[in-house]
Amino acid sequence: MNLKKAVFLDRDGTIIIDKVYLNDPNQIEYLPKVFEALRLLRDHGFKFIIVTNQSGIARGIVDIKNLDLIHEIIQRDFSSQGIDFAGFYYAPYSVESNHHIRKPNPGMLLRAAKDHGIALNHSWMIGDRMSDVEAGFRAGTRAILLDPETKNEILEPAPDAVVQDLFSAAKFILSQN
Ligand SMILES: [Mg+2]
Repeated sequence: MNLKKAVFLDRDGTIIIDKVYLNDPNQIEYLPKVFEALRLLRDHGFKFIIVTNQSGIARGIVDIKNLDLIHEIIQRDFSSQGIDFAGFYYAPYSVESNHHIRKPNPGMLLRAAKDHGIALNHSWMIGDRMSDVEAGFRAGTRAILLDPETKNEILEPAPDAVVQDLFSAAKFILSQN
């Protein structure tokens, strides 16, 4: 079997506006140009997998049924644009748990890679926090940090790129392949 390449995507602050413990499917709001960004990557053979920390479940603020519904809606909205997510993975554990699937730990990416036959060394992680970048590096992907405010901090470990939005991240990835 040929291994595939994937882009692992954080959800909140990367695909949709971070509402902090989003529990209401009516509150889904997409960030600018996310459909264009994934269409571009899709056309270059990338699979997409969402990997999202959802400690709101451990805290009782987010209901699993709503979380599933939110992911169904996101899947459907992207599908209507010709884009398919191979999987949605979430870590329902508390911030303090340091659970192996909770980012910055790489468990979700490792499991998804196994489930979907993904070559991690040909794949990317994109997110708006350093915990995303770290999870990507620990899994063996390259990683891009979204920093809409361009804070110009010195970041450790240094992401492969720091860009303002998902569309810029997509263009960067294609410039590297
Ligand atoms: Mg995020």
